[in-house]
Amino acid sequence: MAPASSRIDKDALRKKYAEERDKRLRPDGNAQYIRIQNQLAHYLDDPYTPVKEREPVRDHVTFAFVGGGFAGLVTGARLVERGIRDVRIIEKGGDFGGTWYWNRYPGAQCDTASMVYMPLLEETGHMPTEKYAHAPEILEHCQRIGNQFGLYENALFHTEVKDLEWDGDAHRWILRTNRGDEFTAQFLGLGTGPLHVPKLPGLPGIEDFRGHSFHTSRWDYDYTGGDPHGDAMHKLADKRVAIIGTGATAVQCVPHLAAACKELYVFQRTPSSVDVRANRPIDAKWFAEIATEGWQQRWLENFTANQQGVEMPDVDLVQDGWTDLARRIRMRILSLPPEDRRDLRKIMGAFEESDFEKMEEIRSRCDAVVTDPDTAQNLKAWYRQLCKRPCFHDEYLQSFNIEGTHLVDTDGKGVEKITEKGVVAAGREYEVDCIIYASGFEVGTPFEDRTGFDPAGRDGIRLSEHWAEGMRSKHGIHVHGFPNLFLVQPTQGANLISNVPHNLTESGKTIATLVRHAIDTGWEEVEVTREAEDAWVDLLMTGGGRMLGSPDCTPGYYNNEGQDPGPAARSFVGYPQGALAFFRYLDAWRRDGSFEGVEFR
Ligand code: NDP
Repeated sequence: MAPASSRIDKDALRKKYAEERDKRLRPDGNAQYIRIQNQLAHYLDDPYTPVKEREPVRDHVTFAFVGGGFAGLVTGARLVERGIRDVRIIEKGGDFGGTWYWNRYPGAQCDTASMVYMPLLEETGHMPTEKYAHAPEILEHCQRIGNQFGLYENALFHTEVKDLEWDGDAHRWILRTNRGDEFTAQFLGLGTGPLHVPKLPGLPGIEDFRGHSFHTSRWDYDYTGGDPHGDAMHKLADKRVAIIGTGATAVQCVPHLAAACKELYVFQRTPSSVDVRANRPIDAKWFAEIATEGWQQRWLENFTANQQGVEMPDVDLVQDGWTDLARRIRMRILSLPPEDRRDLRKIMGAFEESDFEKMEEIRSRCDAVVTDPDTAQNLKAWYRQLCKRPCFHDEYLQSFNIEGTHLVDTDGKGVEKITEKGVVAAGREYEVDCIIYASGFEVGTPFEDRTGFDPAGRDGIRLSEHWAEGMRSKHGIHVHGFPNLFLVQPTQGANLISNVPHNLTESGKTIATLVRHAIDTGWEEVEVTREAEDAWVDLLMTGGGRMLGSPDCTPGYYNNEGQDPGPAARSFVGYPQGALAFFRYLDAWRRDGSFEGVEFR
């Protein structure tokens, strides 16, 4: 039951949140993290698929796509559906899957319900087995899309694009890779993902550790035993293991480590908020009944509408933590006297109150579940729910009741250093056999640093030059000066963070429609005009141009570690009227057929 807001001391909570944030603010912000390189470069090796030798490719394709995750798969599928079969996906992993190729840590599963998270379910006829599918099923689904739409034939795996250059005379892109390939493509898609470069905390001594270590995105099952399907990690039975970080990844893998290790030390700087998961199998009979024509689109729209809380539909088909959050806020606003419902201050007050209640409920779960009162206290998150990625799990808190599992809370300071033998925190050295870094992925670093290439567009202008004052695009898809190039990612579009694949499928549809139109009408180039791009960016800024997490939040990647992101804030904004309105607008833009703002040559 939610704690009654009348019992909540709001001033005391505001003060506590501010104190906890201030403890964690640090002048180096994002620079506290280091890129994986030099002596630690082996952390990036692919533990899952051996690299195959092959001859360099030198040919021409109609459409090349950089990235073989959901973005590349859904765009490729939509192009093939529209009869454009000559699609080549270039992927640094050994197969399709993107984040689901790399993240095979034990317990990995989607945090948004499978029915809306897994793309193209209707097209492939796949029924998810669980409300929140586990990683192996999602990876298999990626392979299913690849197979069904014939995307394997032309794909280049274990290949990193190093250079992209627009050849204006030939109206095509030249692609060069780390495998010696040099080929051309009339159209080019970029779907490199927002969270694909693993990062490490910049700790003194990190290269000195003599034991075993790895990052969660390259799980070493040879060392731990077990497998991504949930087989126990029997090789850890006599091991002392440290895991650094308590974000969404750690929340999912800690229960498996706790069950397997002799001793597990969980090093915590900031606790995650961990609400109820309530996963369950999907019933085949129920699925057969609901999966009528157009079902997934209906579910997607229903989820977005519920999650956004703007036009609350009568039903909430998905019913999960995301929609619950929005419904609570909406109910709270509706409980205001009618004259206050248009008063922004009152609305924000109602929002805050419902957030306080929710977070009190989540904090009280720690007391209810964790037997040691100090540990329970240390696991409580003192910030508003959307300051950090909300987590949902039914075994994470319980892990701290397992003998041999220790929470090492650092009171916001974090691990201090790594030694030859282990981890130092709060002045004490913890000797361990293995260190697992659950320290996340680069966010907010320059595009060209994260991807390893900086496209040269018309007249040789680099994307980094065009974006020197922050990202510029129309729809988050088209960039002026970069003909025939399309971005597939959420920002400057719907920016629907609660269900990223929905953003990608809509972009995929848009790109396939445009490319089909260009080919059918004999145009060689498609490019957004300068005016249309400027107008779009201006429109986005009317929404305030704020990042996901506010500067008042505890630091994290949602708010650029609490520092002013400068013009880069633009890279994180969405359509001012929200995701639902954006998807409707984009649908109308596609259907209209005049493709306002885009020029064909
Ligand atoms: P995060 O960036 O969320 O977490 C990194 C963790 O490392 C934080 O807890 C951070 O603490 C901690 N950390 C950093 N430096 C130190 C230090 N010196 N000492 C101790 N701790 C430290 O990475 P994740 O991999 O957990 O998640 C990244 C994102 O990936 C998620 O937010 C989510 O978007 C996505 N994801 C999605 C999943 C899904 O859909 N199922 C599952 C897992 C991840 P602090 O909080 O104080 O900065």
